[in-house]
Amino acid sequence: MTTSSELIEISERRSAHNYHPLPVVIHEAHGAWVTDVEGKRYLDFLSGYSSLNFGHGNPKIIEAAQEQLRNLTLTSRAFYHDQFAQFCAGLGDLTGKDMILPMNTGAEAVETAIKVSRKWGYQVKGVAPEQANIIVMEDNFHGRTTTIISFSTDPDAHDEFGPYTPGFKIVKYGSAEAIREAIDANTVAVLVEPIQGEAGVLVPPDGYLTQVRELCTENNVLMIADEIQSGLGRTGKTFAVEHEGVVPDIYILGKALGGGVVPVSAIAANEDVLGVIKPGQHGSTFGGNPLACAVANAVIEILNTGEFQARATHLGEIMHAKLRELIGHGVVAVRGRGLWAGVDIDPSVATGREVSKRLMERGVLAKDTHGSTIRLAPPIVISEEDLLSALDQLAEVIASMR
Ligand SMILES: *Cc1c(COP(=O)(O)O)cnc(C)c1O
Repeated sequence: MTTSSELIEISERRSAHNYHPLPVVIHEAHGAWVTDVEGKRYLDFLSGYSSLNFGHGNPKIIEAAQEQLRNLTLTSRAFYHDQFAQFCAGLGDLTGKDMILPMNTGAEAVETAIKVSRKWGYQVKGVAPEQANIIVMEDNFHGRTTTIISFSTDPDAHDEFGPYTPGFKIVKYGSAEAIREAIDANTVAVLVEPIQGEAGVLVPPDGYLTQVRELCTENNVLMIADEIQSGLGRTGKTFAVEHEGVVPDIYILGKALGGGVVPVSAIAANEDVLGVIKPGQHGSTFGGNPLACAVANAVIEILNTGEFQARATHLGEIMHAKLRELIGHGVVAVRGRGLWAGVDIDPSVATGREVSKRLMERGVLAKDTHGSTIRLAPPIVISEEDLLSALDQLAEVIASMR
């Protein structure tokens, strides 16, 4: 049998170093637990960046995928297939929107929202050709395409990938005033993460999303909520915007929509917005394929029960209560909602990477971000007992490093 260290050595030698993985080689996983090639078990506290909200190998999702694999996997959108109607109607009902445009990865769905809102700007709002602008936030994360990284403020994501796509205005996250000042007659959309995940699970001030909604409505600007990471149960609601009772014009969904099985993304909007796209103007060979739709249909059914949203709320309260106890004891701040937290480690105690490594040795897989922050987002199927034991490990790791 090939050992972890041999597999890591080959992986590092033969792949681009665009990631810096923790030194663990996973072989299989069920629920919240993963097992490496040597048979050591770990609790997954990353969940594929919230793609695995419903757990590894969720039986309902795997069953739907297996059945679909036997029947039909790809038609392209040149033809209809029998999973598509349920997918669009189901996701439309879940979001409360008329129409769906399916893609595969999150970045593709973000690109779709950008293209749709520009088209809407020219056709419906009456913006002069080539003049549309979209307001985006500092420290955003919306994906890795050349257009999307054009408006990233993270030097790693942005620098030396130009020339950049114009048409974006970057403002401070959490400040409605900054949006008010940036909006002009050519603004077609405001693109916002209801909670900034990659930035370190940053929750905006109370009332912010409501104010963004009001500003967009007043100025005939589309509000686009990138719920790729914050949506689909993670925060205790189906969508994080619900915490403020806000309804965006466009939802962007991905990650958990594919149940941790296949990449599935989509945007959801009403006909007055999505109706601007006509045949031939946008598409994707694999977007909305039968396997993707069958998996997403299982995910939508799970979300319709509300069971995972309730569980994320309940477990989230337990997790945040525990984490708050660590503030002042090697932890500077804790943020988040539902079963999702960003934990800022006191930089004088350890880096996020060091804490992640020690946690790994103790059987908990969590990932650092931006130096001193650890993010915690276990699959929502995790048992209360496993959640508490992992949080004890975190407390012990931090105590041991002080
Ligand atoms: C992950 C993520 C994306 C990009 O999704 P990919 O599937 O990696 O392209 C976009 N927006 C947010 C908020 C994300 O978390």
